[in-house]
Amino acid sequence: MQPLQDHLGRKFPYLRLSVTDLCNFRCNYCLPDGCTSHSHRDSLRLDEIRRLISAFSRLGVEKVRITGGEPTLRADFNTIVSVIKGIPGIRKVAMTTNGYKMDQRVISWLDAGIDAINLSVDSLNPESFRLITGHNRLQEIMAGINKAFAHGLTSIKVNAVLLKGLNDSELTAFLEWVRGRPVTIRFIELMETGDNHSFFNKHHISGGLIRKKLLELGWIRVARPRDAGPAQEYCHSDYQGRIGLIMPYARDFCNDCNRLRVSSMGKLQLCLFSESGIDLRDLLQSDSQQEALVVRIKQSLALKKDGHFLEEGVTGGTYNLAQLGG
Ligand code: SAM
Ligand code: SF4
Repeated sequence: MQPLQDHLGRKFPYLRLSVTDLCNFRCNYCLPDGCTSHSHRDSLRLDEIRRLISAFSRLGVEKVRITGGEPTLRADFNTIVSVIKGIPGIRKVAMTTNGYKMDQRVISWLDAGIDAINLSVDSLNPESFRLITGHNRLQEIMAGINKAFAHGLTSIKVNAVLLKGLNDSELTAFLEWVRGRPVTIRFIELMETGDNHSFFNKHHISGGLIRKKLLELGWIRVARPRDAGPAQEYCHSDYQGRIGLIMPYARDFCNDCNRLRVSSMGKLQLCLFSESGIDLRDLLQSDSQQEALVVRIKQSLALKKDGHFLEEGVTGGTYNLAQLGG
């Protein structure tokens, strides 16, 4: 079957699947008041997830990232991983997590079939980490990273959202941290969402400032692999790790878009900042609906816009990124 491709020739080998929009952290840029609900009752069930990913794999999707909310809050998280991993055509299963109880759980994630972990660590200073996330859990995350490496994981990326006045003085500490560790730290420019306007105005800083400092310090831009995300990556011969920059406000950011998203309620989101999603759930109820599902996904792609309009303050229907998993 012809792989998914839009009218600009962009191909989509990569799907981000949110398995819950609940989270136990209170990151001040995302869910400052936390979540009031504690039930995953309405989230996609395991059999729905299997049908969804099977259809996408027929359309050329090879890599699935499981995200949330906090995906590891689902009691059946490991089963979700192994079911997705077992679907023909899926080469890589990754996850994005806040690292909650990572020290205790990471080996079970890897044994279930996780190939790559993106971990959110917005500060290496325990007090700043607590101020940003509402949790004093930096130590268990660090222990989790060590365990993952000891268990043979080769791909860990750390996401840090750039926040003026909260972590923007930590570049040197982050660089020192990757000097002897094969970890990529990706600095993500804070994005404006429906819920964080005043926080955004107070704390947004451009990733261009970090890029300037990296270049001054002798870091060199690395060529982008085919299935990579939108990060610009930099390396330096004195450091084992790499630095990535994700700058959604940069011109041309959307030109390399290679991912689609499905929400935990089964809506296909063509862009992180779409007005609304396209419901797929009614076609996830039986194996006999696979053909119809494939057709709906292909037809929906015609609606994908050339880019977002974030720079004009248009945040679509996205109130926070916990809705869709970033
Ligand atoms: N709970 C998991 C975690 O925090 O890694 C997965 C979901 S979280 C929404 C995915 C990523 O989006 C995290 O790295 C988080 O820092 C990032 N994120 C959330 N809100 C953001 C915003 N407004 N701007 C930029 N990145 C954001
Ligand atoms: Fe939760 Fe992730 Fe949002 Fe933080 S960024 S509140 S961990 S969903």
